[in-house]
Amino acid sequence: MDILVVLEDNHGSLHRMSREAIAGAQQLGESITALAIGQHASLLADKLSGVDLAEVLTVSHELVSSYNADGYAEVVRQIIEAESPQLIIAGHTYQTRDYMPRVSAKCDIPFIPDVISAEDGSYVKLVLNSKLNATVSASSDTVILSFQSAAYSDEDLVPGSCASRPFEVNLDTAMVRSETEEPFQEDAGDVDLESAELIISIGRGIEKEENIPMVFDLANALGAEISASRPVVDSGWMESFRQVGSSGQTVAPKLYFSLGISGAIQHVVGMKGSKNILSINKDPDAPIFEISDYAVVGDLLEIIPKLIEALQTEKNS
Ligand SMILES: Cc1cc2nc3c(=O)[nH]c(=O)nc-3n(C[C@H](O)[C@H](O)[C@H](O)COP(=O)(O)OP(=O)(O)OC[C@H]3O[C@@H](n4cnc5c(N)ncnc54)[C@H](O)[C@@H]3O)c2cc1C
Repeated sequence: MDILVVLEDNHGSLHRMSREAIAGAQQLGESITALAIGQHASLLADKLSGVDLAEVLTVSHELVSSYNADGYAEVVRQIIEAESPQLIIAGHTYQTRDYMPRVSAKCDIPFIPDVISAEDGSYVKLVLNSKLNATVSASSDTVILSFQSAAYSDEDLVPGSCASRPFEVNLDTAMVRSETEEPFQEDAGDVDLESAELIISIGRGIEKEENIPMVFDLANALGAEISASRPVVDSGWMESFRQVGSSGQTVAPKLYFSLGISGAIQHVVGMKGSKNILSINKDPDAPIFEISDYAVVGDLLEIIPKLIEALQTEKNS
């Protein structure tokens, strides 16, 4: 199957979800072409030189030197027309949500967004506040998909080699009328949960706001970022940008250390892509343990102070 993966430029580097989209595409088809658009197109192509792809198409045109929905949609339309891929895939980012519906409308190709797995023309996505999985298929031979964050892992990228090929597009100002302002950046203080390698996440098991500083002490000792489940944010104990889950952020650190989190699906969907999950919960039947690599059954209010003390002793020795 011929697959086109549309890449996203993240200030000159390849967006993590584009790498995940390629990893997913590699599981679905043999001939995968990636498309890099904009001023950093060659840079993005270079970053994929060690990945098993048919080729990377690069599009450099002044009207799409930086992202705009009209321009990107028209570029992708022209590539679909020229290359006839059967699947067009991108990460389910804000940018994809902006331009991909336009591609779908221009090309009359169905768009199935936010897919978590795919097999033989069936695509699974979460519905009803992530409580159910729906399996969706399309009657069309050609389908556009976006993959949910962490649905696939970039650690599964198949290594290999690929060449890049500049692709000439025809664009004029009548086609590209949308203008894009500076990318929206949610106020996240100094917190970068998306790229954090170690995250300590606080759930309702923390019991009261006065207990939160000890988690910050632990985070300082371990060099970790802090996130939270929704009830902790709803209680006003933590800022909203720290919320992980279906209505918060999606994270994929090397270690996600959950403290007093039950493991509701709306939370799990935001952290299940973590490489390792370590959980402390006093309930041995807590659902979080089903997806945890390391499980500690106990009272976090007793364990955390002892952990901080042990780390301090080790540091001083
Ligand atoms: C539309 C919608 C969107 C949602 N979006 C999100 C979202 O983005 N993120 C999110 O997190 N939730 C979200 N939720 C809420 C979600 O359904 C759960 O209610 C929430 O995740 C539960 O948070 P929790 O695990 O911290 O709390 P609880 O479910 O109350 O779990 C607390 C856990 O702490 C344990 N515990 C208690 N005391 C201790 C102790 N002293 N030591 C150790 N363990 C202890 C308990 O055994 C329990 O397992 C959403 C819900 C809806 C309907």
